[in-house]
Amino acid sequence: MIPITGRTVTVGVMGSPVRHSLSPQLHNAAFEALGIDARSLAFPVAPSSGVAAVDAMRTLGIRGLSVTMPHKEAVLAGVDTRSPVVDALGAANCLVNDDGVITAHNTDGDGFVRSLLVEQGIDLSGRRVALIGAGGAARSVAEAVGRAGVADLAIMNRTPARADAAVAVGGPAARVAGADAVADAEIIVHATSLGMAVDDPLPVSVDHLHAGQLVVDLVYRPLRTALLTSAAACGATTINGVAMLLHQAAIQLELWTGEDAPIEAMRMAVLDEMEAAG
Ligand code: NAP
Repeated sequence: MIPITGRTVTVGVMGSPVRHSLSPQLHNAAFEALGIDARSLAFPVAPSSGVAAVDAMRTLGIRGLSVTMPHKEAVLAGVDTRSPVVDALGAANCLVNDDGVITAHNTDGDGFVRSLLVEQGIDLSGRRVALIGAGGAARSVAEAVGRAGVADLAIMNRTPARADAAVAVGGPAARVAGADAVADAEIIVHATSLGMAVDDPLPVSVDHLHAGQLVVDLVYRPLRTALLTSAAACGATTINGVAMLLHQAAIQLELWTGEDAPIEAMRMAVLDEMEAAG
């Protein structure tokens, strides 16, 4: 790794809490693989200090920040420009500092779409997709999947009003649906927080899962959720949340550096870290 000097570029991740974030490992592995003189650090930023952190980025010349909870909406009050995706979602997960001009981006949804293309060779155009959940991750996925030209985007959520809000960003094929829409979908995306705790119920009945489907769980802790185990037992193909995590971080790296992300080096760093954490 290039030694830290006065020329080393700083990027990072801001959040509260933030010490659990995998962004520094992902981005530092990429800098090392590419021979770029930069480092990523985690910055704990109090919930009320999102805009102050954007100002600090300008003051300290920090090139880029990943943005995580609870700042994804609040930072927008401090930025200069927003990507069209951020305009649609009202939330950012990445900031880029061009000589003091801060642009907000959201790479979650594009990271998801890219992960399917790169990892599975799947083009979403014309596909029938079921999306379970309507929180921040689900809305990002809905927006990007809608843009990718799916034939059907059936969205279901515990709180119906939030499903309506996800449909509103999901393009012409998006609709609110019940759990039975899962059976008709080719691709099922699970985007609730169920599955992170061992005693969580399954987010969908196994009766709706079958061979020929692809089931993607956005949860990546644990790597193998009960949903993925059940889906595999039903004959479905499964993908865990690491794929989207990797590719959303890869797009952030590309925004900061202009270089293609070294995906395999990033994948190795994140899997090593998760294995070490147990
Ligand atoms: P969020 O905004 O808080 O949304 C949480 C979602 O989970 C909502 O749809 C919520 O439904 C649903 N939910 C929570 N508890 C539930 C329960 N007991 N029963 C049914 N539904 C429940 O969170 P988020 O940021 O979207 O994150 C959601 C998941 O995606 C997390 O596991 C997160 O780790 C993962 N994620 C992964 C990536 C990745 O790169 N792989 C990126 C972002 C997030 P209500 O609307 O009814 O509350």
